[in-house]
Amino acid sequence: MNECTVAIAGSGPTGLACGIELKKRGIDAVLFDKGCVVNSLYDYPVNMVFFTTPELLEIGDIPMTALNEKPVRAEALKYYRRVADHYKLRIEQYTRVSSVSGEDGAFTVHTEDRLGRRIDWRARKTIFATGYYDKPNLLNIPGEHLPKVIHYYKEAHPYYGHDVAVIGGKNSAAIAALELWWTGARVTLIHRQPSLSDSIKYWIRPNIENRLKNREITGYLNSSVREIRPGSIVIDTPDGTVEAPNDFVFAMTGYRPDTEFLAAHGIEFDPESQRPFTNPATLESARRGIYLAGVLVAGMHTNEIFIENGRFHGRTIADAIAAELNQ
Ligand code: NAP
Repeated sequence: MNECTVAIAGSGPTGLACGIELKKRGIDAVLFDKGCVVNSLYDYPVNMVFFTTPELLEIGDIPMTALNEKPVRAEALKYYRRVADHYKLRIEQYTRVSSVSGEDGAFTVHTEDRLGRRIDWRARKTIFATGYYDKPNLLNIPGEHLPKVIHYYKEAHPYYGHDVAVIGGKNSAAIAALELWWTGARVTLIHRQPSLSDSIKYWIRPNIENRLKNREITGYLNSSVREIRPGSIVIDTPDGTVEAPNDFVFAMTGYRPDTEFLAAHGIEFDPESQRPFTNPATLESARRGIYLAGVLVAGMHTNEIFIENGRFHGRTIADAIAAELNQ
């Protein structure tokens, strides 16, 4: 069995910040990620521009620069690779944490790598920093599992000249709809509310609203998709049911943390918000020795924690672990 003092599940910006802060306190940690380092950022749309300025994405006191006011995906990927290198973090990429057994001070972290090899690690403490991007909010309608239904928008080119539906009314839906439209897809936007969300960024919202007003993008508000068929979608609108031709569906319905995984590890939640109980001073969960970092702490309130604030969880947790180990 391999050994480390702290095992960290997840190598996003928050997981990296945990690894760095532990290292600064002389505590060795191993990070595991089922994909590549900062896998969620890798999965973001290819042309993504962050909503925030570079200094708010920084970890480990390493300055981040960007060519323009806001960084793009490629700049962030490069930055986090450089930070991981700089701090010589040990990251087991393409290695999934299947489960954690044992107890505080003597955990066994069960992992599986991309060759299917199962490797167990002995760890005194465990941090879950697994984010929320792996679990899309499902529509729970017939046809949702057809291969043409996509929960991760990457880029528009493959959809040129096709009938494409975008479901949702917040930032991802607005950005995807606009990019698809200006790339030459015939776009229909379906949102269950009477208007698009106020949370759409001020530089995006007028653009999408004008495209809807000019009918360059077909909009159905107060509407929901009832069924997805191989060549069409069925939409319930205030004016009745419409069946529209359709080749691809982008369900931009947001994401949620893997609460089932957490619950299976004895982590307890507030039943309504699904917010796990954590000690705010340490971010230790109800399961002794298991700490939660990043958006996991917010339960279903995923709009409360971003890289900008989740990155500080590393310091809180590393202080708490250092204090316990030095007792
Ligand atoms: P989101 O903010 O969670 O919005 C999801 C949208 O889908 C909402 O409009 C929601 O409707 C709708 N929805 C959810 N479940 C549904 C269902 N079952 N049926 C129909 N509609 C459903 O997701 P997001 O836009 O992907 O954004 C996620 C996070 O990423 C946010 O924090 C956002 O700011 C961030 N983001 C950042 C960037 C960037 O940095 N460049 C780009 C995009 C997104 P309701 O409005 O009724 O809830």
